[in-house]
Amino acid sequence: MERPGAGEINSNECENMSRNKEMSEEYEANTVEFLVDLPFATIDFKDECGITDVPQINLERKKGNECISKDQGGKKKKKDYQPNYFLSIPITNKEITKGIKILQNEIIKQDKRLAQTMTRDGSFHITLLVMQLLNEDEVNIGIDALLELKPFIEEILQGKHLSLPFQGVDTFNSQVGFVKLAEGDHINLLLEMAEAAKKTFQEKGILAGENRSYKPHLTFMKLSKAPWLRKKGLKKIDREIYEKFISHKFGEEMVYRIDLCSMLKKKQSNGYYHCESSIVIGDKNGGEPDDAELVRLSKRLVENAVLKAVQQYLEETQNKNKPGNGNSVKTEEANRNGTDSDNMK
Ligand code: C5P
Repeated sequence: MERPGAGEINSNECENMSRNKEMSEEYEANTVEFLVDLPFATIDFKDECGITDVPQINLERKKGNECISKDQGGKKKKKDYQPNYFLSIPITNKEITKGIKILQNEIIKQDKRLAQTMTRDGSFHITLLVMQLLNEDEVNIGIDALLELKPFIEEILQGKHLSLPFQGVDTFNSQVGFVKLAEGDHINLLLEMAEAAKKTFQEKGILAGENRSYKPHLTFMKLSKAPWLRKKGLKKIDREIYEKFISHKFGEEMVYRIDLCSMLKKKQSNGYYHCESSIVIGDKNGGEPDDAELVRLSKRLVENAVLKAVQQYLEETQNKNKPGNGNSVKTEEANRNGTDSDNMK
């Protein structure tokens, strides 16, 4: 039987190759779909068309990048900076989310392919800060930093509620579609909060922030969620498809929580990101603790109960071993150490 020479392929191999290609394309699509679902999976990358929102792994950042805390003791290199956690202000006002659904459906009606680029229900948020937390210890430092941030946020807000009015639609580079914040003081407050967050996290040695200026926004679609559409000629979000909503009022969100969320961990069943910790700012529920607080509270209660039980057990066993308690049993430990009750005079 003749074997194909170097560079030649027989029909079986060809079939296998095309099956492999299909499988690898499918795998690639799935992987990319997973990666692009991250809020900041894509940063600082420009292709020849100036696109800034292409999925990136192992990206290198420019020199002089301000976003990285300075003294890392040589352990962390700037080029390794790939945010995987972020501070999120969840957007839960039904009026806003319903409005966004209407906007998304309106866009999909004009081009069905764009359905694949839409941000899913439950995950609407405003990013306050992005950061990199590489292991459990760093996540714990992040949790501490979030707790430390709380009084600074309270100082910025000075006891006032922060209400965010959403109005109009815009894009980043025609790649990311977002609902805008209406003009007003709330934007300055958000900028101050973002700055305080960056400082608090960086002071704890966490790599945090970005090298572009902070622009609060509510993302509802990203072309990078479906990069295969580029090959089909869909390279930008045209203004006409969202024109009707250009000054639409979507409603106001009362900010009441900041979450430390993972970009990579499996999302919650409600569609929202996996949270490591949250702080409550303002009392949306009239002082009622929210879910995250209840979990923390019950965890602390269980820990206290276990501690109490262990203490009680230790006290009881110590009392039993004391003379005069009618207990003649000596522990092995006491015998070994020569500290049995007979010698404790
Ligand atoms: O923060 P959020 O998850 O809504 O960000 C969505 C996308 O918007 C991200 O891919 C991010 O890279 C992009 N973005 C941007 N310019 C900004 C802020 C975010 O292109 N100033």
